[in-house]
Amino acid sequence: MWNKKSVSFFNATLLLIIFVQAQVHATHFEHIKQITASSKSLVPVLIIGSGVAGLSAAIYTARAQLHTVVMAGNEPGGQLMGSSLVENMPGVTAVAGYKVIEQMEQQVQALGVHMLHDTVRTIKVASEGNHFIVETENDLTLHALTIIIATGASPNKLQVPGEVEFTNAGVFTCAVCDCRQATGKEVAVVGGGDSAIESVMHLAPYAKHITLLVRGKQMRASLAMQEKLKKYDHVAVLYQQRVIKIVEAAPVQEPSGTKNTDENSPWMSGVVIQHADNQEIKLLSAECVFVAIGHTPNSQLFAPLVAVDGNGYILLQGRTQLTSLPGIFAAGDVTDPRYKQAGRASGDAIAAGLDAIAYLHDKGFSVVTAQELAPYYFKNVVIEEEI
Ligand code: NDP
Repeated sequence: MWNKKSVSFFNATLLLIIFVQAQVHATHFEHIKQITASSKSLVPVLIIGSGVAGLSAAIYTARAQLHTVVMAGNEPGGQLMGSSLVENMPGVTAVAGYKVIEQMEQQVQALGVHMLHDTVRTIKVASEGNHFIVETENDLTLHALTIIIATGASPNKLQVPGEVEFTNAGVFTCAVCDCRQATGKEVAVVGGGDSAIESVMHLAPYAKHITLLVRGKQMRASLAMQEKLKKYDHVAVLYQQRVIKIVEAAPVQEPSGTKNTDENSPWMSGVVIQHADNQEIKLLSAECVFVAIGHTPNSQLFAPLVAVDGNGYILLQGRTQLTSLPGIFAAGDVTDPRYKQAGRASGDAIAAGLDAIAYLHDKGFSVVTAQELAPYYFKNVVIEEEI
């Protein structure tokens, strides 16, 4: 039974806890103020990566009145910048990838987000343990209270002549995104994993014929996936074939002897392949080649700080975007070994933004704190002036 004495004891204890917590929070932010007083380098939410994931997270943190900086990185805009038409993001019908990003950038900048065209060089936990120190390639030092990693994953490249030249002119890495480019065409798919087979399945309704080029004697894909290939009459599999070059059609000679003056930009017309055993070289006619040879998550910089899986994908806690290190969150392809879709990256990044907001609120960050800390914020003056 509760008597008067125990109730007042309980109330006093509660008040003491609240007081101690307030002191801890005050000390937490006092310390940050001292560190960033002269450098004006405080960033409550630092988002690393400016693709769909990074920009989606920024919408949420900025709308929660948290000063947010998005570091654009080596590939501003991420993978969508290289996608031809985006047709599979809910609400987006046949819009060029770069336009989707352009719109998202405008959206976040209108919300007050600062875009910083720089790249992380190093990142470490401050010795006091209450924030992160990020050094950039342009010699900035930022003090971040939270970080959202949204650096994506890069599709592995064949690294053969013609690959760069014909990117988006026959050479694609995302069958789900660019399957319509294969309509009525002879298509090659490179790879022997589950993604390669899945690519074939996405392309099958569109392509006239598909040749799957596997470099080894067998596929790495699961047997169940390999079984699925059998139902397509217009799919052939060639083993032990390496792509050594992607080529354009030889210029058509007009009867007069003059060159074809078609001003359309060049488009590939075939892949040169070489057999692994007998080294025989052949030209395979193909107007499109979809390269599906795996991805590399861009997590190298963060792997010492946060837990990653055997392939470098950042590991998350349950159905959250929390990494193994409190205060650091991650979203998008850098966490996703399987789906790698813009819509999914966006959704996960929204969750990462919400997780970062909850973390800061939990640390006592409030509208009042934000006002107190505002003079210490890092602001990207150059961009501000441009706007
Ligand atoms: P994987 O790493 O599983 O496979 C990559 C494939 O590409 C291998 O067959 C590899 O050949 C081949 N390869 C690598 N480099 C070259 C090159 N230069 N030239 C030609 N071929 C090359 O990657 P995936 O993206 O296929 O799959 C990633 C993960 O996602 C896997 O765990 C997979 O199971 C999973 N996944 C599952 C799906 C499903 O279950 N529906 C769908 C898609 C992915 P080699 O074998 O000779 O090394």
